[in-house]
Amino acid sequence: MQATEGRDMDFKSTEDQFSVGVYQKRDAAIVRGRGARVWDAAGREYIDCVAGVGVANVGHCNPAVVKAIQEQASRLITCSELFYNDARAQCLERLSRITPEGIDRFFLCNSGTEAVEGAIKFARMATGRKRVVAAMRGYHGKTLGSLSATWDKKYRDPFAPLVPDFVHAPYNNAAEFEKAIDDQTAAVILEPVQGEGGVRPATAGFFQAVRKACDDRGALLIVDEIQTGFGRTGRMFACEHLGVFPDILTMAKGIAGGIPMGAIGINRRVGDLEKQSHTSTFGGNPLACAAAVAAIDYLVDQDLPKQAAEKGEYFMQRLRAIADPRIREVRGLGLMIGVELKQKAGALAQAMLQEGVLVLLAGSTVLRFLPPLVITREEIDTVVAALTKVLAAAPGAEIE
Ligand SMILES: *Cc1c(COP(=O)(O)O)cnc(C)c1O
Repeated sequence: MQATEGRDMDFKSTEDQFSVGVYQKRDAAIVRGRGARVWDAAGREYIDCVAGVGVANVGHCNPAVVKAIQEQASRLITCSELFYNDARAQCLERLSRITPEGIDRFFLCNSGTEAVEGAIKFARMATGRKRVVAAMRGYHGKTLGSLSATWDKKYRDPFAPLVPDFVHAPYNNAAEFEKAIDDQTAAVILEPVQGEGGVRPATAGFFQAVRKACDDRGALLIVDEIQTGFGRTGRMFACEHLGVFPDILTMAKGIAGGIPMGAIGINRRVGDLEKQSHTSTFGGNPLACAAAVAAIDYLVDQDLPKQAAEKGEYFMQRLRAIADPRIREVRGLGLMIGVELKQKAGALAQAMLQEGVLVLLAGSTVLRFLPPLVITREEIDTVVAALTKVLAAAPGAEIE
């Protein structure tokens, strides 16, 4: 037991008092984790299908990651990229091994939105063009550049004017999307499965048509794999399902076993970038790099992408068997799964928490499951049983 357990009321009210309050908080104080499970301050156990929003792919407190962090922390924590570093060199080499064909150089940063910011800058610098085409329902982060690519008006409108020359076109509609790409287009940015936008997988035909339009018109293709990467969808990167290679790849979330980190991968079409044109104080710090090496080695050694494919198939099959008339659709890829309801899903997520299962939303009507890829079939059964029970508790009714 940790010293903090049993004293949750103190720190819940402290957070409420001193945080700016922009998060929609759930009523649980999580203080410990292991594998696909976490515990709250009162010692209550949960199966975690949030996983830090798709971060803990190798499991909470993965022993190999913990060991790497401990060892690196006692040797060197900070080292600017103005200097070379052993942990960083290993991290770059690992990324080059697992990323899609053609991606062979990397910029290291600290979060998803920062990876998208850099990707946009690299695309503008490489092409000398300005326009960026993004997808309706797409999500790329909330800093001003990334927000310009994000679709949801609720996030954008309060902060206008955003970065000029961003346009949005319909996802999975090749004919319409292609019309937005022209000889002024620096880049197209797309998620292989839209995450925040409702867990919507792309079709291979759509991605291939966009890839071809980019090639024909001299635009670069940025594939945002911040949520889909590192085994989540059943391949190391989701674009492998689609038969498409990106020019620029954005990564974050699952990259370093839970330590904050982002990365941008580029291919030879991006060419040489100006010295000092893009930098980050914390980017490529040895602690994050050591954690990433351990997380990537674990993903590869345990073949977690394959596990995600098999467990995801099983999970979706079990969810489809619930066959409640309030469920509109179960969809996803690997262990990135959405259950779309015919009603708002917030109360259901709350009821699941009472049953000891943490789930996310994606929009207002979709329950989203992003468990650690090490989740067991027994744990998946428990999650499905909890959802079945919560639905049965209010048969035929709107769940309030
Ligand atoms: C989460 C996410 C981001 C933003 O990442 P942050 O680390 O929250 O800034 C960008 N793109 C996609 C696809 C994401 O899922």
